[in-house]
Amino acid sequence: MFEEIYSAVQKITFAPFNNLSVKRDDLIDPYISGNKWRKLKYILAKAEEEKKTHLVTFGGAYSNHLVATAAAASRSGLTATAFVRGEEVQNEMLLLCSLFGMQLIFTDRESYRDKQKLFQQHFADDEKSYFIDEGGASPEATIGCAEIIRELTETYDHIFCAAGTGTTAAGLLKGIQQHQLNTKLHIIPVLKGGSFIEDEIVQHTPLSDHLNLHLDYHFGGYAKITPELISFIKNFTSKTGLLLDPVYTAKMFYAIFDLQKQGIIGKDEKILAIHTGGLMGLFGMRDKF
Ligand SMILES: *Cc1c(COP(=O)(O)O)cnc(C)c1O
Repeated sequence: MFEEIYSAVQKITFAPFNNLSVKRDDLIDPYISGNKWRKLKYILAKAEEEKKTHLVTFGGAYSNHLVATAAAASRSGLTATAFVRGEEVQNEMLLLCSLFGMQLIFTDRESYRDKQKLFQQHFADDEKSYFIDEGGASPEATIGCAEIIRELTETYDHIFCAAGTGTTAAGLLKGIQQHQLNTKLHIIPVLKGGSFIEDEIVQHTPLSDHLNLHLDYHFGGYAKITPELISFIKNFTSKTGLLLDPVYTAKMFYAIFDLQKQGIIGKDEKILAIHTGGLMGLFGMRDKF
């Protein structure tokens, strides 16, 4: 039983889904989960190469990236600082950041916009500090995400992934191109107006007709949820034993369910969903369930 759970790819046998497997990147680590580890892997390597000992990054108060960076820094013997967007608040994510030793600097939305300036103002004279963009967006991050494709031992007709900034999507597309696969990549932006994801992707790799953006599964916008999505999560988790977070992975699995239901994806076509982790996001929304 546990072998199946911890193996990297898990098959889903829950009735409305056909031919669906899940890449369990959520099992990578409880705090440096899923794609956040994929993104940080080569960022940390570069910081180390440049002999940096202090990571400086940026995020909202519920950012999975901040927790991941804080945890990764503490395990690598590095220190970390985060500029947190908005007024001072406390929540379980920031508690974890603090416990991992991350220094938090709450920053008003206006100043937050210019991240390079914030970095320069606070850490310019400090040769040990390393700038990591919001969400880890960087060329290094796409290299780490492309490795998801390299690890696959089977081929799939379709690969699905949720997108916030699109960096993970860019890495996956790069991986598909590098391995010359015929797999279609389906990206589910979790924000409204997600077509900007293409702009992010072309900064890293050429667009190709492997890429399918699905712009209609944002459920009202970033971190917005509906009763339909909640009942989907409850049903899915009770039938599969797989937890979903309402911000990212639930919207992706809902999209797969809906595209299969509509027959846009045929019953015989093999699908792989990337479970990008982020389960702590669930607890920030406990009052919605
Ligand atoms: C951050 C995150 C994403 C989005 O990744 P991007 O590279 O920003 O598109 C997807 N899923 C989870 C669980 C995340 O935490």
